[in-house]
Amino acid sequence: MKILVINCGSSSLKYQLFDMRDESVLAKGLVERIGIEGARIKHTKTGMDTVTKNADIPNHKVAFKIVVEALLDAGHGVLKSLDELTAVGHRVVHAGERYAGSVLITHDVIDALEECVPLAPLHNPANLMGIYAVTEELPNIPQVGVFDTAFHQTMPGYAYMYGIPYHYYEKYKVRRYGFHGTSHYYVSYRAAEILKKPVESLNIVTCHMGNGSSITAVKGGVSVDTSMGFSPLPGIIMGTRSGDVDPVLVSYLQEHEAIDNKAMSHVLNKESGLLGISGVSSDLRDIEEAADSGNQRAKLAEEMLCYTAKKYVASYAAAMGGIDVLVFTAGIGENSSRTREKICTGLEFMGIKIDKEKNKVRAEEALICAEDSRVAILVVPTDEELVIARDTKRIAMG
Ligand code: ADP
Repeated sequence: MKILVINCGSSSLKYQLFDMRDESVLAKGLVERIGIEGARIKHTKTGMDTVTKNADIPNHKVAFKIVVEALLDAGHGVLKSLDELTAVGHRVVHAGERYAGSVLITHDVIDALEECVPLAPLHNPANLMGIYAVTEELPNIPQVGVFDTAFHQTMPGYAYMYGIPYHYYEKYKVRRYGFHGTSHYYVSYRAAEILKKPVESLNIVTCHMGNGSSITAVKGGVSVDTSMGFSPLPGIIMGTRSGDVDPVLVSYLQEHEAIDNKAMSHVLNKESGLLGISGVSSDLRDIEEAADSGNQRAKLAEEMLCYTAKKYVASYAAAMGGIDVLVFTAGIGENSSRTREKICTGLEFMGIKIDKEKNKVRAEEALICAEDSRVAILVVPTDEELVIARDTKRIAMG
């Protein structure tokens, strides 16, 4: 049984083909610069070198056709016929309050996702283009939507509401939604599995730290709070996003710099965070290097990242009435041992004690806490595509 997982961005289409008999990845790839000059596909059949092919790719429909060609190619392909495909799973960013889990995509679901476009104007249109492209090419194949917001739908009202007049929530559905849900779900359940404990018995804080970052409190296997909000902007500082700011500074800067909403949004989403503070880069590797050679603003950016993350970890322990497990994942969480160490240092009072030697790991599952740490600290590489493939299999098989 073969399942294709698709993750569409505004100018990209990522894919992975799974053989669900053993959950192995047969091939994966990326179409980039869709609708832009210099478009190309990078395709890798497992165990073989990556092939790159430039092509004119004006839209996602053409991008998907090129993916199909690559999958069927006599040399680097992995399928003899498209009949071998059982279903297609899509990563979809926003499902509003409609879906708390993955669903089979029907006309009603598409309508609901179109309704969510104002909530995720940068992401949902691209995700929908992916669904339309597959529907055109493979009209009869079951398609499943797996949503970034779904896992956080269990948050209680006192965690997801903002302290603004209630009627704005009723009228516009403005509330905390949270993102990266598929990743927080995967790493929290995987951590429980590694520890051989029922997830229902655990208070877990998951730190998904990459270019975009969010921290989640997972109590008894469900999300009870998360650091991103109505949009993916708030929470800890990120590569180019500010994280939490006082909303009054937004109107203050707009007035004093004479910039409009769009320009302000660009400042907060693209020019802030590690990049904005350091003036060096949005990539933590560059920040660490610059900090080591004495760049004070790079040092400040690194300190801010770890300090804000530490505060979220501690506050979510308070929210859950304790913490049993702390998990690090995504680009920074999986790779930067010094970030993990800085976040944990100072949290010994709440039973978090990292082992500096065990912490010297990268991109692999590992228990990195000291023998006498009350809290289990783990690195768990995330695998959102696998979750999408599993949900797609479950739902498509009915
Ligand atoms: P995205 O949110 O785009 O999926 P990733 O999860 O791939 O991003 O994370 C990318 C970030 O991970 C990079 O910007 C970089 O800061 C960080 N990163 C990757 N490897 C390392 C490393 N060895 N040391 C420190 N940071 C790293």
